[in-house]
Amino acid sequence: MFLFVLECVLGKETAITMAKDEAKASDFSKGLLQSEELYKYILETSVYPREPEALKELRSVTHNYPMANMATAPDAGQLMEMLLNLVNARKTIEVGVFTGYSLLLTALTLPEDGKVIAIDVNRSTYEIGLPVIKKAGVEHKIDFRVSEALPILDELLNHEENEGGFDFAFVDADKVSYWNYHERLMRLIKVGGIIVYDNTLWGGSVAEPDSSTPEGKREGKKAILELNKKLSADKRVQISQVALGDGITICKRLY
Ligand code: SAH
Ligand code: CA
Repeated sequence: MFLFVLECVLGKETAITMAKDEAKASDFSKGLLQSEELYKYILETSVYPREPEALKELRSVTHNYPMANMATAPDAGQLMEMLLNLVNARKTIEVGVFTGYSLLLTALTLPEDGKVIAIDVNRSTYEIGLPVIKKAGVEHKIDFRVSEALPILDELLNHEENEGGFDFAFVDADKVSYWNYHERLMRLIKVGGIIVYDNTLWGGSVAEPDSSTPEGKREGKKAILELNKKLSADKRVQISQVALGDGITICKRLY
């Protein structure tokens, strides 16, 4: 709506440029880095110059919606793109789509015959980004399912051919279910494949006493603390905890 009004007053190009600038400003306040200047430096030097136009547009479209800061940060997206490439991902799963930043990034990275099964309880947020996805010409790679994620993962496991049938998964939905997702995904992702969990440092709160964590964030924090401990002890995966975005844990299935 905001963009639409701006467009009427200023013309489309100016409106989009303005929205982009604002999106950048909001990005600077994110992440776990101590210095906003350093984050700005990273984005401007290494990330924005290489970010596809479609992703910039999706960021811009998302910016004016409530909870826009749930979208995957572009620097985290850049790492995700590299991981998708490293495993030559052709079939992937995404849990938690929102307006589709990480989904569009995945679809742009997959080969022409690639497929991403994308699950979210909410279709309306997916529809915010859908015009940008369509314009980018990658909608055919997306199999969007409106649902709680667990039943979809269980349904996939009802078909034997799906065991080890996926190269990559990105998990970015309800934190209390992460371990349940992990147990399913460890069967769906092939040996050598990668599962990425987002928000595993939970705003840095994992290292703070509960008294410093706002009430509304404690349940998620508890779930993330448990997940991090369990992933650390899980011999089936190699892990790397990356302090990027809100914390990302990369797991490679070893057997
Ligand atoms: N990866 C997205 C951000 C996801 S935000 C991006 O790059 O923009 C988290 C999303 O998880 C929300 O859209 C929310 O609707 C969805 N979600 C929350 N609980 C869920 C569940 N149990 N199953 C599936 N999706 C869920
Ligand atoms: Ca997230």
